[in-house]
Amino acid sequence: MAPLGPDDQLHEYFGNIHMHTTHSDGSGSFDDLIEGAVRGGLDFVFVTDHNVLVREEEEGYRRGVLTLVGQEVHDTEREVTGNHMLCLGVETDVSDQAKEPQRLIDAVREQNGLAFLAHPIEEGTKLFERLYPWHNWEVTGYHGIELWNFLSSFRGFTTSYARALLVAMLPHRFTVGPLPAMLAKWDELTQERPVVALGGTDVHAVVYSLGPISRRFMTYVECAKALNTHVLTRVPFRGQPENGDTGFRAENVRHDRELVLEGLRRGHCWVGYDLAGRTEGFRFWAEAGTRTGGDEGASLPSGAAATYESVAIMGDTVTLPAAGSLRLQVRTPDQAEIRLLRNGRVIAQGYTDTISYDVRDPSVYRVEVWKNRWGKPRGWIFSNPIYVRRAEEE
Ligand SMILES: [Zn+2]
Ligand SMILES: [Zn+2]
Repeated sequence: MAPLGPDDQLHEYFGNIHMHTTHSDGSGSFDDLIEGAVRGGLDFVFVTDHNVLVREEEEGYRRGVLTLVGQEVHDTEREVTGNHMLCLGVETDVSDQAKEPQRLIDAVREQNGLAFLAHPIEEGTKLFERLYPWHNWEVTGYHGIELWNFLSSFRGFTTSYARALLVAMLPHRFTVGPLPAMLAKWDELTQERPVVALGGTDVHAVVYSLGPISRRFMTYVECAKALNTHVLTRVPFRGQPENGDTGFRAENVRHDRELVLEGLRRGHCWVGYDLAGRTEGFRFWAEAGTRTGGDEGASLPSGAAATYESVAIMGDTVTLPAAGSLRLQVRTPDQAEIRLLRNGRVIAQGYTDTISYDVRDPSVYRVEVWKNRWGKPRGWIFSNPIYVRRAEEE
């Protein structure tokens, strides 16, 4: 958990939300996955094996990591591969609905779970032609998309076996961010309704070989340190019992699990490429013109007069005040290239660690932050949008 300033009443937790184990095609056990999570400093993980909800592994705290079990569902008999759906927070296996994407989404919602389209846009090469994009864009009711799938973001670089091995050995030299086509598609979708973006590693930790050289590609540790989804919550986790490494105190687990799910459901989260510098402490919020509390210049209102309820954070929909203005605020934990986007177009940018912007139009606003690392700009932070609506629209 990030240390929070006195001006910020939010709690922050981060984790990997898309992980595979030996229960499907991953190479590691729950213990291997947790070892990676501990070394990466993660607060939570979602195990999402293919078409199986791993019931024999209870959800709970393992070595301080909130371990949650979802699943990644797809139709194994589909001729053209794709339509992978991350189903988080489901209570029973929904993979029997895989053939009908809309029914699958409905089944997830019936269980109060969350449905996210996994790696919905993929770009490959001749070497690895087989892709797994989303096909049925006519579906409705899903909560969001996996904006940046770490595994998938390497596909376009594997133009030869030698290069594929190089990618496997030095992944951070290659990946630069979500696919531009994916960002464009997301901007298109959010014009219609809020669509939450997550970042997932899709860790499998499988071994790639070229002649005598072999290399385990994207281990659990590497993935935990790389691409995470950071969630903001209004109340803190209860955490595990103090004695013992493993805790299954059901009510605490249920409480903390619901906090994570609610943060993801509402888009109170961002995608952080933590390998380029930890993204903890990033904030994007909107506040109405006149402030009633807190010191001038404080980054979030403090004190009783200006509470969390008086500001909107990423994921929220806010009404443009008829009089006065709405101010968007961005704060990053380090100086970097901050870009504020309105309906997918950059409207303000700068190499800095704070940006303020007075909103005049009802639109969809989001933030990208880019950082120079390993010789080129890398996508560092991708916020969920703040949706600004006109008063009449309500
Ligand atoms: Zn998948
Ligand atoms: Zn996967």
